[in-house]
Amino acid sequence: MRLRNITGSRELIADSPFCISNPETYRGRWHELFQNNHPLYIEIGMGKGQFLMEHARRNPEINYIGIEKYSSVLLRAVEKMETEELPNLRFIRFDAEYITNIFDQGEIDRIYLNFSDPWPKDRHAKRRLTSRQFLARYREILNAGKIIEFKTDNRPLFDFSLEEVKESDYTLLAFTYDLHHDEELCQGNIMTEYEEKFSSLGNPIHKMMVTPNA
Ligand code: SAM
Repeated sequence: MRLRNITGSRELIADSPFCISNPETYRGRWHELFQNNHPLYIEIGMGKGQFLMEHARRNPEINYIGIEKYSSVLLRAVEKMETEELPNLRFIRFDAEYITNIFDQGEIDRIYLNFSDPWPKDRHAKRRLTSRQFLARYREILNAGKIIEFKTDNRPLFDFSLEEVKESDYTLLAFTYDLHHDEELCQGNIMTEYEEKFSSLGNPIHKMMVTPNA
Protein backbone atom coordinates (compact mmCIF):
# COMPACT_ATOMS: atom_id res chain seq x y z
CA MET A 1 0.00 0.00 0.00
CA ARG A 2 1.49 3.32 -1.04
CA LEU A 3 -0.37 6.46 -0.20
CA ARG A 4 0.88 9.66 -1.74
CA ASN A 5 3.77 11.05 0.22
CA ILE A 6 2.14 13.16 2.91
CA THR A 7 4.28 16.17 3.76
CA GLY A 8 5.46 16.07 7.34
CA SER A 9 4.15 12.55 8.03
CA ARG A 10 7.55 11.41 9.25
CA GLU A 11 7.70 14.26 11.77
CA LEU A 12 4.10 13.66 12.91
CA ILE A 13 4.93 9.97 13.48
CA ALA A 14 8.08 10.90 15.41
CA ASP A 15 6.04 13.19 17.71
CA SER A 16 3.14 10.78 18.25
CA PRO A 17 2.84 9.19 21.71
CA PHE A 18 1.41 6.09 19.96
CA CYS A 19 4.56 5.47 17.89
CA ILE A 20 7.77 4.16 19.33
CA SER A 21 10.59 6.06 17.66
CA ASN A 22 13.48 4.19 19.33
CA PRO A 23 12.24 0.56 19.20
CA GLU A 24 15.74 -0.95 19.52
CA THR A 25 15.90 0.30 23.12
CA TYR A 26 12.89 -1.86 24.05
CA ARG A 27 14.40 -5.09 22.71
CA GLY A 28 13.86 -7.76 25.39
CA ARG A 29 11.80 -5.45 27.61
CA TRP A 30 8.64 -4.51 25.73
CA HIS A 31 6.63 -5.43 28.85
CA GLU A 32 8.11 -2.30 30.48
CA LEU A 33 6.49 -0.14 27.82
CA PHE A 34 3.07 -1.71 28.43
CA GLN A 35 3.72 -2.05 32.18
CA ASN A 36 2.40 -5.61 32.31
CA ASN A 37 3.45 -9.13 31.32
CA HIS A 38 0.67 -9.78 28.83
CA PRO A 39 1.47 -11.72 25.64
CA LEU A 40 2.82 -9.67 22.74
CA TYR A 41 1.25 -10.00 19.27
CA ILE A 42 2.54 -8.10 16.23
CA GLU A 43 1.29 -7.38 12.73
CA ILE A 44 3.95 -6.79 10.09
CA GLY A 45 2.88 -4.55 7.21
CA MET A 46 -0.04 -3.24 9.20
CA GLY A 47 -1.20 -0.59 6.72
CA LYS A 48 -3.83 1.73 8.20
CA GLY A 49 -4.33 -0.41 11.30
CA GLN A 50 -8.00 -1.50 11.14
CA PHE A 51 -7.26 -5.18 11.89
CA LEU A 52 -4.96 -4.58 14.83
CA MET A 53 -7.18 -1.89 16.38
CA GLU A 54 -10.13 -4.26 16.41
CA HIS A 55 -7.97 -7.01 17.95
CA ALA A 56 -6.76 -4.59 20.63
CA ARG A 57 -10.35 -3.52 21.41
CA ARG A 58 -11.53 -7.12 21.77
CA ASN A 59 -8.51 -8.39 23.73
CA PRO A 60 -7.32 -5.93 26.40
CA GLU A 61 -5.26 -8.73 28.01
CA ILE A 62 -2.99 -8.91 24.94
CA ASN A 63 -0.44 -6.26 23.90
CA TYR A 64 -0.18 -5.43 20.21
CA ILE A 65 2.44 -3.74 18.09
CA GLY A 66 1.81 -2.74 14.50
CA ILE A 67 4.84 -2.47 12.23
CA GLU A 68 4.63 -0.45 9.03
CA LYS A 69 7.40 0.65 6.71
CA TYR A 70 5.86 3.87 5.40
CA SER A 71 5.03 6.89 7.55
CA SER A 72 2.36 8.14 5.12
CA VAL A 73 0.43 4.87 5.69
CA LEU A 74 1.12 4.66 9.42
CA LEU A 75 -0.17 8.20 9.86
CA ARG A 76 -3.70 6.93 9.10
CA ALA A 77 -3.50 4.49 12.01
CA VAL A 78 -2.13 7.21 14.28
CA GLU A 79 -5.04 9.50 13.38
CA LYS A 80 -7.50 6.75 14.36
CA MET A 81 -5.75 6.27 17.71
CA GLU A 82 -6.06 10.01 18.35
CA THR A 83 -9.84 9.60 18.37
CA GLU A 84 -9.80 6.28 20.27
CA GLU A 85 -6.72 5.55 22.33
CA LEU A 86 -6.10 1.85 22.97
CA PRO A 87 -3.57 1.38 25.80
CA ASN A 88 -2.56 -2.11 24.61
CA LEU A 89 -1.58 -1.02 21.08
CA ARG A 90 1.47 0.85 19.83
CA PHE A 91 3.01 1.40 16.39
CA ILE A 92 6.49 1.33 14.93
CA ARG A 93 7.64 2.74 11.59
CA PHE A 94 10.20 0.15 10.65
CA ASP A 95 11.37 -2.18 7.90
CA ALA A 96 10.68 -5.73 9.08
CA GLU A 97 13.87 -6.91 7.41
CA TYR A 98 15.61 -5.86 10.63
CA ILE A 99 12.98 -7.19 13.00
CA THR A 100 15.48 -9.13 15.13
CA ASN A 101 17.01 -5.75 16.11
CA ILE A 102 13.84 -4.78 17.95
CA PHE A 103 12.57 -8.06 19.44
CA ASP A 104 14.55 -10.54 21.48
CA GLN A 105 14.54 -14.32 21.19
CA GLY A 106 11.11 -15.72 22.07
CA GLU A 107 9.64 -12.30 22.86
CA ILE A 108 6.69 -12.55 20.46
CA ASP A 109 3.60 -14.71 20.93
CA ARG A 110 1.93 -14.27 17.55
CA ILE A 111 2.75 -12.75 14.17
CA TYR A 112 0.08 -11.58 11.74
CA LEU A 113 0.90 -11.07 8.07
CA ASN A 114 -2.03 -9.71 6.11
CA PHE A 115 -2.13 -9.09 2.36
CA SER A 116 1.64 -8.72 2.24
CA ASP A 117 3.12 -7.13 -0.87
CA PRO A 118 3.51 -9.89 -3.52
CA TRP A 119 6.81 -8.78 -5.09
CA PRO A 120 5.91 -10.74 -8.27
CA LYS A 121 9.37 -10.80 -9.86
CA ASP A 122 11.40 -13.90 -8.96
CA ARG A 123 14.48 -11.85 -8.26
CA HIS A 124 12.54 -10.05 -5.49
CA ALA A 125 11.30 -13.25 -3.82
CA LYS A 126 13.36 -12.73 -0.70
CA ARG A 127 11.58 -9.41 -0.06
CA ARG A 128 8.26 -11.25 0.36
CA LEU A 129 7.31 -11.29 4.04
CA THR A 130 6.69 -15.05 3.84
CA SER A 131 10.01 -15.92 2.17
CA ARG A 132 12.31 -18.41 3.89
CA GLN A 133 14.58 -15.47 4.79
CA PHE A 134 11.78 -13.74 6.69
CA LEU A 135 10.54 -17.03 8.20
CA ALA A 136 14.05 -17.55 9.63
CA ARG A 137 13.94 -14.07 11.21
CA TYR A 138 10.50 -14.73 12.73
CA ARG A 139 11.78 -18.00 14.16
CA GLU A 140 14.29 -16.05 16.24
CA ILE A 141 11.69 -13.81 17.87
CA LEU A 142 8.71 -16.18 18.13
CA ASN A 143 8.07 -18.00 21.40
CA ALA A 144 8.10 -21.84 21.24
CA GLY A 145 4.74 -23.28 20.19
CA LYS A 146 3.45 -19.93 18.95
CA ILE A 147 1.85 -19.10 15.62
CA ILE A 148 2.18 -17.07 12.44
CA GLU A 149 -1.10 -16.31 10.67
CA PHE A 150 -1.02 -15.23 7.03
CA LYS A 151 -3.94 -14.07 4.87
CA THR A 152 -3.96 -12.99 1.24
CA ASP A 153 -6.11 -13.13 -1.88
CA ASN A 154 -3.00 -13.56 -4.03
CA ARG A 155 -2.85 -17.24 -5.05
CA PRO A 156 0.72 -17.24 -6.44
CA LEU A 157 1.97 -15.58 -3.24
CA PHE A 158 0.01 -18.06 -1.11
CA ASP A 159 1.37 -21.08 -3.02
CA PHE A 160 4.89 -19.67 -2.80
CA SER A 161 4.40 -19.25 0.96
CA LEU A 162 3.25 -22.87 1.40
CA GLU A 163 6.44 -24.00 -0.39
CA GLU A 164 8.62 -21.72 1.76
CA VAL A 165 7.08 -23.16 4.94
CA LYS A 166 8.00 -26.67 3.71
CA GLU A 167 11.60 -25.54 3.17
CA SER A 168 11.80 -23.87 6.58
CA ASP A 169 11.82 -25.16 10.14
CA TYR A 170 8.04 -24.83 10.55
CA THR A 171 4.93 -27.01 10.68
CA LEU A 172 1.81 -26.09 8.74
CA LEU A 173 -1.07 -26.24 11.27
CA ALA A 174 -3.99 -25.34 9.01
CA PHE A 175 -4.77 -23.69 5.71
CA THR A 176 -7.68 -22.83 3.46
CA TYR A 177 -8.09 -21.34 0.01
CA ASP A 178 -11.48 -19.89 0.93
CA LEU A 179 -11.43 -18.50 4.45
CA HIS A 180 -14.84 -16.84 4.33
CA HIS A 181 -16.49 -20.20 3.56
CA ASP A 182 -14.42 -22.18 6.08
CA GLU A 183 -16.56 -22.32 9.21
CA GLU A 184 -13.74 -23.35 11.52
CA LEU A 185 -10.93 -21.04 10.36
CA CYS A 186 -13.26 -18.09 9.89
CA GLN A 187 -14.41 -18.11 13.52
CA GLY A 188 -13.63 -14.72 15.06
CA ASN A 189 -12.07 -13.52 11.80
CA ILE A 190 -11.29 -9.80 11.80
CA MET A 191 -11.16 -8.26 8.35
CA THR A 192 -8.30 -6.05 7.23
CA GLU A 193 -8.77 -3.09 4.87
CA TYR A 194 -7.45 -5.15 1.94
CA GLU A 195 -9.56 -8.16 2.90
CA GLU A 196 -12.73 -6.04 2.78
CA LYS A 197 -11.72 -4.58 -0.55
CA PHE A 198 -10.78 -7.82 -2.31
CA SER A 199 -13.50 -10.04 -0.84
CA SER A 200 -16.10 -7.48 -1.94
CA LEU A 201 -14.77 -7.99 -5.49
CA GLY A 202 -15.46 -11.73 -5.09
CA ASN A 203 -11.84 -12.83 -4.55
CA PRO A 204 -11.51 -15.83 -2.22
CA ILE A 205 -9.27 -15.19 0.78
CA HIS A 206 -6.52 -17.71 1.54
CA LYS A 207 -5.21 -18.27 5.04
CA MET A 208 -2.51 -20.38 6.67
CA MET A 209 -1.34 -20.89 10.24
CA VAL A 210 2.17 -22.18 10.95
CA THR A 211 4.31 -22.81 14.01
CA PRO A 212 8.09 -23.15 14.38
CA ASN A 213 9.30 -26.69 15.01
CA ALA A 214 10.52 -27.39 18.54
N1 SAM B 1 -2.16 -5.45 6.24
C1 SAM B 1 -2.90 -4.38 5.62
C2 SAM B 1 -4.20 -4.91 5.08
O1 SAM B 1 -4.35 -6.13 4.97
O2 SAM B 1 -5.10 -4.11 4.81
C3 SAM B 1 -2.07 -3.66 4.53
C4 SAM B 1 -1.69 -4.49 3.34
S1 SAM B 1 -0.63 -3.63 2.22
C5 SAM B 1 -0.82 -4.48 0.72
C6 SAM B 1 0.99 -4.18 2.73
C7 SAM B 1 1.65 -3.24 3.72
O3 SAM B 1 2.88 -3.82 4.16
C8 SAM B 1 2.01 -1.88 3.14
O4 SAM B 1 1.44 -0.86 3.94
C9 SAM B 1 3.52 -1.85 3.14
O5 SAM B 1 4.05 -0.57 3.33
C10 SAM B 1 3.84 -2.79 4.29
N2 SAM B 1 5.18 -3.42 4.19
C11 SAM B 1 5.70 -4.03 3.10
N3 SAM B 1 6.93 -4.49 3.35
C12 SAM B 1 7.20 -4.15 4.64
C13 SAM B 1 8.33 -4.34 5.48
N4 SAM B 1 9.45 -4.95 5.03
N5 SAM B 1 8.27 -3.89 6.75
C14 SAM B 1 7.15 -3.26 7.20
N6 SAM B 1 6.06 -3.04 6.45
C15 SAM B 1 6.08 -3.48 5.18
